[in-house]
Amino acid sequence: MGGAAMTTTVITGIGELVTNDPARAEQGGLLGLLTDAAVVVEGSHVAWVGPAADAPAADVQVDAGGRAVIPGFVDSHSHLVFAGDRSAEFEARMTGQPYTAGGIRRTVARTRAATDEQLTSHVARLVAEMRAQGTTSVEIKSGYGLSVHDEARSLAVARQFTDETTFLGAHVVPADTTSEDYVALVTGPMLAAAAPHARWIDVFCEDGAFDVDQARAILQAGTDSGLRGRLHANQLTYGGGVRLACELGLVAVDHCTYLSDADVAALASSGTIATLLPGVEFSTRHPYPDARGLLDAGVRVALASDCNPGSCFTSSMALCIALAVREMRMSPAEALHAATATGAAALDRDDVGVLAPGKAADLVLLDAPSYVHLAYRPGVPLVAGVWQAGRPVVHSSR
Ligand SMILES: [Zn+2]
Repeated sequence: MGGAAMTTTVITGIGELVTNDPARAEQGGLLGLLTDAAVVVEGSHVAWVGPAADAPAADVQVDAGGRAVIPGFVDSHSHLVFAGDRSAEFEARMTGQPYTAGGIRRTVARTRAATDEQLTSHVARLVAEMRAQGTTSVEIKSGYGLSVHDEARSLAVARQFTDETTFLGAHVVPADTTSEDYVALVTGPMLAAAAPHARWIDVFCEDGAFDVDQARAILQAGTDSGLRGRLHANQLTYGGGVRLACELGLVAVDHCTYLSDADVAALASSGTIATLLPGVEFSTRHPYPDARGLLDAGVRVALASDCNPGSCFTSSMALCIALAVREMRMSPAEALHAATATGAAALDRDDVGVLAPGKAADLVLLDAPSYVHLAYRPGVPLVAGVWQAGRPVVHSSR
């Protein structure tokens, strides 16, 4: 670095600051809370956190006016690269038809027919929608291309928006091929084309998608190509997916709706994070995962949106928090921590989801005195400002 000094900004008058800093847990609990706080941002990083009365001077001063500031949400599970609309499918489901994974194939047809420019502008719109609601880090999966060309270009589109890109060629077996032939394609030419654009590899391990043995083979091939594994498992039925994730030591396994006692024990002993996606249960009218049981068993729990056109088309982490509190018996503090610090851990990141010196300056100013309002005022837009890597990217005039 060296050379010209970076611009510094002090955000002062923070009535309640969520730091998620473990060093502040003794006084501030799980969220490392500080009251009457200030944060100094230097360039793209946090330079100082502490009592407002002690805040050093800075080039720019922002007064939070007694409102709450939280770390930006880390949404560790989304499927933003797609084309087309499935609202009719949602309407049918809400009027009595059960959800099956078959609708994915409809999105695949529309995605293949879209141009790169159309896919890019659609992802840009969704990422902006997320940012306006306080999400500053997002993972984006492929999985609606299901051909060598369309998976690779889906990931190239996603890479323009995040480093956390995930190859999900193993989303569903496309029509007109066998699952054996398709697994060979996914682990062969498709993986080779996708790997340069991806950090992660994922498999939809479920009845009607890929079984445990296929998931194991696909994850192994990905690992051999330098990708890291994650898994969709136990969304619709009991099965061996969660235990496979734990056995392989994956950083996270996502959905975890139908869990046996053995699954919970495996999660607790492996340290694999259970990423819960309650917007899916809300949008498919399925029972919610047992977040309380997981937490009480010592499992680390993250929350993510699973934003996708079929089973859950919300981009709102605040909605996920409200559902986790109301429907899954997480405390408001546990839910916010799961949507920020543990979401970051589910991406094996420690530079986001925490507000402490040296961490990314990803902050959200709430139009509320406390983070509790995220669950207490469901459906209300509470984001008054967002800084991403130190830059103000959202500003509400309220
Ligand atoms: Zn998903």
